[in-house]
Amino acid sequence: MIYLDHQASTPTDSRVVQAMLPFFTEHCGNPASRHHSPGSFASEAVETARRQVANLIGARSPREILFTSGATEAINLALKGIAKANASGGRHLITSMIEHKATLDACARLEAQGFEVTRLPVDCLGRVSPQDVESAIRPDTLLVSLLHGHNEVGTLQPVGEIGAICRGRGVLFHVDAAQTAGKVPLDVEAAKIDLCSISAHKFHGPKGVGALYVRLRPRIAIEPLLDGGGQERGLRSGTLNVPGIVGLGVACELALHDMDQEGERLTLLRNRLFERLSEAVAGLTLSGHPSERLPGNLNVSFPIEDSYDLMMRLPDLAVSAGSACSSGSMEPSHSFRAMGIPDSIARSAIRFGLGRFTTPDDIERAADMVIRAVLRLPVSGSIG
Ligand SMILES: *Cc1c(COP(=O)(O)O)cnc(C)c1O
Repeated sequence: MIYLDHQASTPTDSRVVQAMLPFFTEHCGNPASRHHSPGSFASEAVETARRQVANLIGARSPREILFTSGATEAINLALKGIAKANASGGRHLITSMIEHKATLDACARLEAQGFEVTRLPVDCLGRVSPQDVESAIRPDTLLVSLLHGHNEVGTLQPVGEIGAICRGRGVLFHVDAAQTAGKVPLDVEAAKIDLCSISAHKFHGPKGVGALYVRLRPRIAIEPLLDGGGQERGLRSGTLNVPGIVGLGVACELALHDMDQEGERLTLLRNRLFERLSEAVAGLTLSGHPSERLPGNLNVSFPIEDSYDLMMRLPDLAVSAGSACSSGSMEPSHSFRAMGIPDSIARSAIRFGLGRFTTPDDIERAADMVIRAVLRLPVSGSIG
């Protein structure tokens, strides 16, 4: 099996697993029980991980990192927490039409509770225009929330430019960096980001753990989603997932260590895959930005009716439909629609996601498999 679905999830690096293991058994302390040594040992491990996460995204202080169960929770805490704690100052939020479900659904729930949401359009490559952000900001705008790297088409947003606009207008800026943390340089200070969500399993860490960066100064009021023991500065109650947090920390360190080389390596492999496919199959369409995109992402539409027909013929290749339809419906994704991509292109799109353990040989074999399968399928628009 060749695994090319790294935008969905990644294998946990064995160095991450090794670092986590003792925290299931020997080091069983609750980090809140700092009065004994197992507790203080666990607490120190959590604080090390906090520094590692802060370091990956350029946070000034480890205290700006809150651990969560993943990016979905981090996004919900950022959006709902900000909206509810600051409703007296305004009830307007700005996001885009191509966000992850976590953002879209959190926004829809806030709307049902009396908040107003502007969903910005994108161009055909999936980019939000900074000018559109600027003109959407109103006196009652609390927050702009945008994803950094798109989970389907891989397009990167100009977060630095948008961060400067938000800061200039006194509006908070949240970035969903679930696809970019650990893969693309991201500096919350330079980009003037106030809140940032990340997820360990998207960059070779374990599933079920992530973090929300919350700028300390000036203080940002957030209402917690959970009530309880008051962990994480009262913003995220619940006993910390120590093994997961240790794993997240090590995943950050590993990713930071060779981010540039790994980005170049994945870009070359990704380009090689596209070159192989386009040489063999006429009429391919690349979706997303040709250069401003995640290094390991390729989203290609084939001249066939439906990407599911193709995936059924690729039992040894793990990829996803490029236009991830929600809950098994055959509708193209909201993101493809927002980019103005015809439904026929959306329906025949495959997303290839490369990762740390993808080899040149994997790419050649994957290309062989796909080419063989495509050439056996009827061309779209043809009879039968
Ligand atoms: C995966 C992903 C999420 C959700 O992260 P989880 O940790 O799996 O909850 C949010 N946003 C984007 C862009 C993602 O790719």
